[in-house]
Amino acid sequence: MVIHGSYFSAIARRLTMPFLSRLRSASKASTVYNLSSGLPDPELFPFKEASFVLQSGEVLPLTQHLIEKAFQYSPTNGIPELVKHLTDFTAKLFAPPHMSERGLAITAGGQAALHAVLHTFVDPGDCVFVPETTYSSFFSTLETTEGKPVIVGKDRYGLRPDLLRDTLERSSSGRRKLLYIIPNADNPTGSTLTKERRQEIYDIACVYDLLIVEDDPYFFLQYGSQTHPSFLSLDTAGRVLRIDSFSKILGPGLRLGYITADKHFTDKICTLIAAVTIHASSLSQVVVSELLDRCGYEGFMKVTRDISLKYLEKRDMVTQAASKHLSGLCEWVETDGMFLWLKVLGLEDVTEMVNHTCRERNLLVVPGSIFQLDATQPSPYIRINFAMITPEIADKAFQILSDIIREELRKEELER
Ligand code: PLP
Repeated sequence: MVIHGSYFSAIARRLTMPFLSRLRSASKASTVYNLSSGLPDPELFPFKEASFVLQSGEVLPLTQHLIEKAFQYSPTNGIPELVKHLTDFTAKLFAPPHMSERGLAITAGGQAALHAVLHTFVDPGDCVFVPETTYSSFFSTLETTEGKPVIVGKDRYGLRPDLLRDTLERSSSGRRKLLYIIPNADNPTGSTLTKERRQEIYDIACVYDLLIVEDDPYFFLQYGSQTHPSFLSLDTAGRVLRIDSFSKILGPGLRLGYITADKHFTDKICTLIAAVTIHASSLSQVVVSELLDRCGYEGFMKVTRDISLKYLEKRDMVTQAASKHLSGLCEWVETDGMFLWLKVLGLEDVTEMVNHTCRERNLLVVPGSIFQLDATQPSPYIRINFAMITPEIADKAFQILSDIIREELRKEELER
């Protein structure tokens, strides 16, 4: 097993849980004379009751007791009912080794989880290994720690283990601290790592003593016949920090995610959470906890399956529209998740075309360059989000895009 204290950043080592957060987590309902806390009187909150109508028509009532909880401060790692649901859920879904030694910290979404994790582990100059294209906000968060991003090559199946090994061998200055990875339906490429690569990457992390930050908001949007194991499922040494998010399934406005990792790690991460947000929204936590109470494990899995089937239909529809308009102009592969990653053929860089010409014609897509460490470097890629697309919009949008690409190719031809 890993030696936990040796990974913490200098800030994390100095930080301890604020006194009032500790007191709040330790306070018992049975304490008669509790005059300690900064809790406001819930009887004076203007909200009394609420109910949510589910898509099925069922009603999820929030009674006065739940409303009081939803509008009150809660423990740093989350309201106990939701922590229990998510711990049971993770144990069932991923069956991680040593589950009893793992902790769970609820966060204000995956982004806040990344912030807390990076600040817990990364000191200025520490090497953080990052796939060559990745979720662009990861680079911004990493920047706030002054960690050193070290880029690792990918192919259509995601991060290449052989290149990870080479890069690790070559990296000399700075402590090798962690690897960031989006295992399923990658943002921006939509690729999902194979089972074999996951094991190989995990084994390399063990050899080079790296922590693995597994950022997995698209877990439920895998369209293959089987879902792949989480890195957590392979984690015999306790070096994986898994980040889940409810954003893509229940709604990003909830701002709810959670970190599952060795308990020494989640305890320390909670000191960072307490220092920044105190805790994630109690209202969101109560709503999700009630939903999980209502659905149970099987019911929730069915909700996620139904959502994933709808996205799969959109994926198929959008790739058909791409075949109709972009064949010969772009290359792409069938993806998981909600993104189509188009490689424009014959153009070295499409950033200017996407930012100006496309926008002028009312087409908003994302240039591939923003997913690189250095966004000023050329990229022939475009990311399309098909989550809200209709057949009519796909048809029109790809028609416009094909016109623009043809014009751009003609311009390049004339300039040569
Ligand atoms: N990580 C990845 C890979 C993402 O794609 C996103 C959002 O798109 C996030 C994290 C942040 O998600 P949230 O903070 O809404 O959970």
